[in-house]
Amino acid sequence: AKDRGKGTIAVYEAGLHAEALGKLALRSELQRAIRENELVLHYQPTVDLTTQRITGFEALVRWNHPTRGLLPPLEFIPVAEQSGLIVPLGSWVLLEACRAGAGMQSERHQPSMAVNISAQQLAKTDFVDEVVEALRCAGMPAERLVLEITESVLLDDMTNTITTLARLRDRGVRVAIDDFGTGYSSLSYLAQLPVDVLKIDKSFVDKVGDGYADASLVEAIIAMSHSMRLTTVAEGVEHSEQAAWLQDARCSLGQGYLWSRPVDLPSARALLVRGTHR
Ligand code: C2E
Ligand code: CA
Ligand code: CA
Ligand code: CA
Repeated sequence: AKDRGKGTIAVYEAGLHAEALGKLALRSELQRAIRENELVLHYQPTVDLTTQRITGFEALVRWNHPTRGLLPPLEFIPVAEQSGLIVPLGSWVLLEACRAGAGMQSERHQPSMAVNISAQQLAKTDFVDEVVEALRCAGMPAERLVLEITESVLLDDMTNTITTLARLRDRGVRVAIDDFGTGYSSLSYLAQLPVDVLKIDKSFVDKVGDGYADASLVEAIIAMSHSMRLTTVAEGVEHSEQAAWLQDARCSLGQGYLWSRPVDLPSARALLVRGTHR
């Protein structure tokens, strides 16, 4: 009984520290992962709702962990953001995605390549230079790069953000508002920002095509985006009823499991060559 008691205490204490230790371990492992090239990008197509053709891809990072397998971003992006590792991680993603995008270019295909950018990357004083350098290094036309920035990041440090995004757009790079609708900001407010694309969050897209009353909100978002000359992308489309509804509502593009999950580069190229993939 004595031994069991000790064991219980040890387990309890371990439990107390497990989270902190886990984060520390994860951080140093992630540092190694960036160094040792364990990160990989998967690519999910965006599709023109009218023609069903692929217009581009979004690059989504995964960690090919030596013992735990392929880890989704949710398991390491938060730690990367807390530890500042998101900056080198983000630099790697940007260059890798530009290379992939450049490699997909052909006479028939000039797909766009969208890259998720976090607040700490955007705040770097040399961020514009870094983007320009990545494009040059990869041989990727600026017009084909889309930087996805969430609504909350856009609103966080408005003055600096506007300056940075305006400089990037002068170079031809496009900017997308990611997860639109989750940040409680008005569209007319966001329209003052230098943006080109609006991505309607999955939580709203989930509600359309099924007779829900909430769909009117999505209709309003699309109508306003049109008047502001923004391209609209519906995120997380899973059913053909949703796609049909969105097309009727004049949403331009869709992205979701209906067409394809995020896939590795060879599979993404194959989707592109096949043209439409359903
Ligand atoms: P996000 O930018 O909103 O990306 C869309 C997420 O929705 C992706 O999850 C994608 O796989 C998933 N998705 C797409 N279509 C569907 C669908 O039809 N149904 C469902 N249920 N899900 C769908 P993923 O790849 O796990 O990425 C999660 C988040 O991690 C991203 O959300 C983004 O915020 C972040 N993330 C991914 N890659 C990067 C990166 O390179 N840098 C940064 N800073 N964040 C990243
Ligand atoms: Ca995104
Ligand atoms: Ca999103
Ligand atoms: Ca999201």
